[in-house]
Amino acid sequence: MKLSRFGEKFAGESGIVALMDDLGTALNENPDMIFMGGGNPGRVPGMEAVFGEKLEALLADPQQRHSLFGIYQSPQGDREFRREIARFLQQQFGWQLGEQNIAISNGSQAAFFLLFNMLAGEMPDGSKHSIHLPLAPEYIGYADTGLCEGFFSATRPAIELLDDRQFKYHVDFSQLQVGAEAAALCVSRPTNPTGNVLTDEEIAHLDSIARAQGIPLIIDGAYGQPFPEIVFTEARPHWNENTILALSLSKLGLPGVRTGILVAREELVSAFTNANTIASLACGTLGPLLTRSLFANGEIRRLAQQHVTPFYRERSQQAVGFCREHFGDLPWRVHKPEGAIFLWLWFEGLPISSQELYQRLKQRGVLVVPGHNFFVGLEDDWRHRQECLRVSYAMDSTTVEAGIAIIAEEVRRAYDGD
Ligand code: PLP
Repeated sequence: MKLSRFGEKFAGESGIVALMDDLGTALNENPDMIFMGGGNPGRVPGMEAVFGEKLEALLADPQQRHSLFGIYQSPQGDREFRREIARFLQQQFGWQLGEQNIAISNGSQAAFFLLFNMLAGEMPDGSKHSIHLPLAPEYIGYADTGLCEGFFSATRPAIELLDDRQFKYHVDFSQLQVGAEAAALCVSRPTNPTGNVLTDEEIAHLDSIARAQGIPLIIDGAYGQPFPEIVFTEARPHWNENTILALSLSKLGLPGVRTGILVAREELVSAFTNANTIASLACGTLGPLLTRSLFANGEIRRLAQQHVTPFYRERSQQAVGFCREHFGDLPWRVHKPEGAIFLWLWFEGLPISSQELYQRLKQRGVLVVPGHNFFVGLEDDWRHRQECLRVSYAMDSTTVEAGIAIIAEEVRRAYDGD
């Protein structure tokens, strides 16, 4: 098969594809693997019940059922759904926006692909622009989305050491240099993989840098505000005309439904809609029809706070407890879990690479994601990249504890020089 440049880049074995392949193969070969590697949300009974009821009501109404199965939505997304989201955001936070500021996509991952490539890459004047990640490590799913090489740049974080074996990354504003080649700043908040929640001050500072540079600040709220609200700390939702807020229904418990939501200035929404028409023709109907009424009365935020936030807060505390129990006196630290569904473990001075640790854990039946993959856009040989692991705690607590116990054994073996 002859492949184009596009084909070579996107059909080939890029880093993330190889990793996902490896995780998938391992799981297929041994279904009993302890799978702590994925970003799949946990099963939250309260949310499952609500979505189940909504789906049954949809199917019971012939008109609604026809809307669900038999009608193409507009490429910008179901109008009524966009209207309800805009009204909800206006009422909750006083943001000045309307349906023209909302675009729907088939999952936020697909939205990022279009959005990043619309803003960065080869520019009409022949120059090359990149997306800057002000705090690496960042979401692995950004890697490889660019149509050209060198698509991302990133800034190393400042590390604050905290009590109780915790630490927290901060944007290192003393090192953050946003040059003319930056097309946008992008952060996930809460951050995948670390569970960090950038402070309100950090967001305000990034916002002012982006404005001064005349570029947008992209906030990936897949785990954040105003839903699914997997946030365990005080944080203010942020949006203005210079912000592109990317939201998703996935971590509410609907990853199979593939609904992403962009909140942005009208000009960007129009441009995105055109690109989305070419790529997708139309958006799926299920997410909008299932959740529209939840936006209409602000219920979505109440449900998230009642069911989703406590579910993951409890899981995260439990998981940290298992770490304390099993890691004991090993030189371990965990990023302060402020949100999302992962623990980010740091083994300072680990004598083996994170990839080697990943392989050894795979042999022992535990799948995690080796940390070096998340330093998207960072080209240096910082040792820290090799000392971290991302571990999901979305599964039941018995599984999480079993996985952490094995990680402890393998890490101890590595420090012992075995
Ligand atoms: N952004 C972050 C930070 C994520 O972790 C994910 C998925 O795990 C996505 C975006 C994409 O989510 P989806 O395409 O399901 O909306």
